[in-house]
Amino acid sequence: MPELPEVETVCRSLRPHLLNRTIRRVRVIEPRLREPVDVKALRSLAGKRIEAISRIAKYIVIDLSGGSSWIFHLGMSGKLICVSAETGRQKHDHIIVDLDDGRELRYHDPRRFGLSLATNRSALRELPQLRRIGLDPFDPALNAEYLFRFTRASERRIRDLLLDQQIIAGLGNIYANEILALAGIKPTARAHRLTRRQVEMLARLIPELLRDAIRWCGTSFSDYRDADDKSGEFQNHLRVYDRAGEGCRVCPSAIKRVAIGSRSAFYCPTCQK
Ligand SMILES: [Zn+2]
Repeated sequence: MPELPEVETVCRSLRPHLLNRTIRRVRVIEPRLREPVDVKALRSLAGKRIEAISRIAKYIVIDLSGGSSWIFHLGMSGKLICVSAETGRQKHDHIIVDLDDGRELRYHDPRRFGLSLATNRSALRELPQLRRIGLDPFDPALNAEYLFRFTRASERRIRDLLLDQQIIAGLGNIYANEILALAGIKPTARAHRLTRRQVEMLARLIPELLRDAIRWCGTSFSDYRDADDKSGEFQNHLRVYDRAGEGCRVCPSAIKRVAIGSRSAFYCPTCQK
C-alpha cells in the first residue's frame, strides 16, 4: 500500500510529464473505485491546463486552470503512469487522460480502493476526506510539544497512535515501525508511558526517516510504481518491517513480529524497549 514517501515520489515523477500540459479528453473505463467516480465531473476537466501537482497527506492534488483541482488517492494498489498513446492498454486501467502532447496519463488500480474526484480548489480542505486530517509529517508544527500532548493522554500502543491520521496525516505501518526501530521504542509500548525525551526523538525521526525513504523513491513490495513505472528501493533499507526471523541490523537478535489489531508490528527485542 503506498504510503507518504511513495505518494511524494509519484508527485515528483508526475511533474515533468504533466506541468503545463492541457487535458484533451478524460475517459473513465471503470467508475467503480472506493467511491463511484463522478464521470461527468471528470470529463468536464477537458480543456484545462495542469498548473501544479502537490500532496496533502496521501492525496495527490493536481491543480488545473480555472480554479479546479483533481484529487487522486492510490488506495492499496493504485498507479498513475504517463505513457505514449500507442502503449498497449492494460487490464485495470480505469481512467485515461489524453494530453495535448499525444501522451496519456493512466490511472491503474487492480484492487480499486483508490479515489479520483474533481473539486473547486477553494473547497479542497472542506472535502470529507481532508477535513479532519492531522499535521503533515513535514509540518514544523509537528514537534515534540504537539506529539507529547497526544502521547501523555493516551493508553494506546504507540504504533497505533502514530498511525492515527487525525494526529499525523499520511504515516502508515511500514514507516511507523521503522521510526520506532530507530527510536529504540517497542511498537507495543503504551503511549502515555513514553518519556518526554522519547517523544522528542520521535518528533525528530519522523521527518528524518520519511526524507530518507523519499530519497530512495519509496518502498515497493508489490504494486507501487512511480509515473515512469519505476519501483522504489527503500525495501532494501528497512530495519524491521517485514523482516521477522531475520537478523537485527544492529545486534545479534532476530526481528520479532507481533499482531496489533489487524496489522503486524515488527521490532528487535533487544534494541527496542
Ligand atoms: Zn537489535
